[in-house]
Amino acid sequence: MLNGKVALITGGGSGIGAACGRRLARDGAIVVLVDRDLEAAREVADSLVAEGFGAEARWADVCEEQTLADAVTTTCQEHGALHIAVTCAGITGPFAPTADYPSDAFDAVLAVNLTGVFYTMRQVIPAMRSAGGGVVVNIASVAGHVAFRKHGAYVAAKHGVIGLTRTAAREYAIEGIRVVSVSPGVIESPMTAVLSDDAIRRTVDSVPMARAGLPEEVADLVAFLVSDRARYVTGSDHLVDGGQLTQ
Ligand code: NAP
Repeated sequence: MLNGKVALITGGGSGIGAACGRRLARDGAIVVLVDRDLEAAREVADSLVAEGFGAEARWADVCEEQTLADAVTTTCQEHGALHIAVTCAGITGPFAPTADYPSDAFDAVLAVNLTGVFYTMRQVIPAMRSAGGGVVVNIASVAGHVAFRKHGAYVAAKHGVIGLTRTAAREYAIEGIRVVSVSPGVIESPMTAVLSDDAIRRTVDSVPMARAGLPEEVADLVAFLVSDRARYVTGSDHLVDGGQLTQ
C-alpha cells in the first residue's frame, strides 16, 4: 500500500512513534525514525530491518531546526524523496495550576510540542513539494480540544498543533500536500507509564470504552490517513480516544 513511499517519524523511538514506524514499514514504506533517543530509535529500526522491512534511525532534536533539516536532507539523498511525515515527538511537562506553572517548563513544553511541530513542517514540506506531494500527520491530543487542569502548557501546545495543521492544510492543498492531525486519548506508552495508578484510573473512568488505547490503535489510524484511501482528507483532526470526548 505504501510501497515506494518514504516516511519520516519524529519521536520514532518510543510509544506512538515507534508503533507508527512499525505499521508504515509493514505497509511497505521506508521509515526513518527520528528521535533524540537514538538508541531507542535504533532498536526499533533494527528489529524492522531484521524482519525484512526498510527502516533506519536518525538523531535529531525537534527543538533544533538544523538537526531536522539534516535528517530531511540525508533522507532525500539516500532514499530519493520524502513523502510522509508523522510528528510524534512530545513531552508532558510538570503538573501545576497556571499561576504556579514554572515559566521555564512552559517554554520547554511549547518548544517540543508546538515549535517542534512547526520546525518539522518547515523542513518536510519543501521536500514533499519536490516529491510532487505528500502527507503530514501531526500528533495532537484530546488536550488539543478540551482543557485539563494543571496542564496549561500541554493544552496550549496541542491546541496550537491543531491550528497549525489547519493553516498548513489550506496553504498546501493545491500542491498535493495533505496536512491532518490525530488526537489520541489516554494511550499506554512510556509517556503515560509515569502517571500514578490513581491518575490513570480517573482518566480511564472518563473513557466509554473503559480502557486506555494502545499505540498500535493510533498507528492504524495514521496508516489510513497517510494512504491514498484518505486522498480527499486534509485539514481535519481525527480523534482516537475510545469515546472520551463524547461528553
Ligand atoms: P513517548 O513514548 O514518551 O515518546 C515520545 C518520544 O519523543 C520519545 O522517544 C522522546 O524521547 C521523543 N522526544 C521528546 N522530545 C524530543 C525532542 N525534542 N526531539 C526529538 N525527540 C524527542 O510518548 P508517546 O506517548 O508515544 O507520545 C507521542 C505523541 O503522542 C506526543 O506528542 C504526545 O503528546 C502525544 N499523545 C500521547 C498520548 C498518550 O496517552 N500517550 C495521548 C495524546 C497524545 P525521550 O524519551 O528522550 O524524551
